Amino acid sequence: MKSKITRTALFMTVALATGLMLAQEPAGGGEYKFNEEKLSCVTPEQRTQMMMDIRDGISLLKSQNRLAYDGQRRGSHMYFSWPIRKADGVEYNDVWAISGYLDHNPNYPNQLTDYNCGTTTYDTESGYNHMGVDIYTWPFPWLMMDNNEVEIIAAAPGQILYKYDGLFDRSCSFNNNFWNTVYIQHADGSVVAYGHMKNGSVTTKSIGEMVEEGEYLGIVGSSGNSTGPHLHFEAYTEIEWNGEGQDVLLDPYSGPCNSLNDDTWWQNQKPYRNPNINAALSHNAPPVFPACPNQETTNASNQFDPGQMLYLSVFLRDQEAGTSLNLKLIKPDGTFMYNWNYDLTDHYSSSWWYWNFNNLTIEGEWKWQVTYLGQTVTHPFNIGSLGVGDENFNATAVYPNPFKDFITISSNQTVQKATVVDMLGKQVKTIANTPEGIREINLEKLSNGVYFLILESDLGHRKTIRLIKE
Ligand SMILES: [Zn+2]
Repeated sequence: MKSKITRTALFMTVALATGLMLAQEPAGGGEYKFNEEKLSCVTPEQRTQMMMDIRDGISLLKSQNRLAYDGQRRGSHMYFSWPIRKADGVEYNDVWAISGYLDHNPNYPNQLTDYNCGTTTYDTESGYNHMGVDIYTWPFPWLMMDNNEVEIIAAAPGQILYKYDGLFDRSCSFNNNFWNTVYIQHADGSVVAYGHMKNGSVTTKSIGEMVEEGEYLGIVGSSGNSTGPHLHFEAYTEIEWNGEGQDVLLDPYSGPCNSLNDDTWWQNQKPYRNPNINAALSHNAPPVFPACPNQETTNASNQFDPGQMLYLSVFLRDQEAGTSLNLKLIKPDGTFMYNWNYDLTDHYSSSWWYWNFNNLTIEGEWKWQVTYLGQTVTHPFNIGSLGVGDENFNATAVYPNPFKDFITISSNQTVQKATVVDMLGKQVKTIANTPEGIREINLEKLSNGVYFLILESDLGHRKTIRLIKE
């Protein structure tokens, strides 16, 4: 017993000296399940409507002599680019995950075969086998929809055959609502349906207009038969039109169990499972995922007091069983406070994990660094009143603090930019481009509470000061 204690003490000494730490379990998180109930994206009635609309679009454009392509398969086929992108300014590392591919097994229910002979697809008791690729938003599905952060873009150049907008977009379950959507035909006669868009987000281009590859089409939403924001990407190599040809479904992925076509239709086919760190963030409370369709609360913050309880998170796409995360908490001087691994035992198409700390007392810029399967994401955050390279900016002060309406800045350097953020890290005021320097800031419109004032000098130094409005 005695020797065991000694060994433990010795190990602890070594661990502290090298900045290592025993593997630490997360304080919370877990799997995030999209479409857990396995509802079909498109009812049979809705698909009938969709194919009618596509045919109507072709007929209409043909009658106006505006049909760019004739609806019949021709030439070598298109290659699609990825139909999802981050909107400008979105700081998450990535914004999507996949919940389902096409189901190539005609039997049902629960007889699943995706293109790769796996079961990342679904069917229903009523006989529906999933006919599209479902790409959902992650890490904060509803917040990202509400903030227009995930855009649907054209996978190939083509002509708009039909579209819908103006329809309810916060679906959580089975319904008979139709979706906001765009149907586009390409030069080879193939057609892609982009379904479930956000209300009011659909491209303002009209039926018959041309779109470029990569052109904005809409925002990922949850209109139609949907359990949360996602893109349903459904493609046809050809469309029956005017009694000619037939509707031929396409699976854009090449794989051993693709029963529809042999070769890939992607310019760069992504891996079947595509593990990725979608975000590594810091928070002043754990993120909250309320019931559908309520917007998530991130509680994200990059500014903390010394010793304040803070939460460091990671959001993964395709967490793989038998892999591990490497996690590093890096002090302002660049040395590790902690460096540990966390083993992942299950495959989840999306997951999140967080750890909490209340022992970060050194002021300055810290880093939360997550490495997963060779990918590293580093998230900086600030403890106390000092930012990066602030030594020369130290004398800068603000008075009065607490304040009522105005604050005055005293500094030995010229303050060229001032940003006020609230406790959630949201910007509430920014002043910049003041050549003579910022000396006074009017904050009378702010409600009472705690804020952070980030000052930047003409010499490029930063300082963050905690403000209290009373
Ligand atoms: Zn779908």
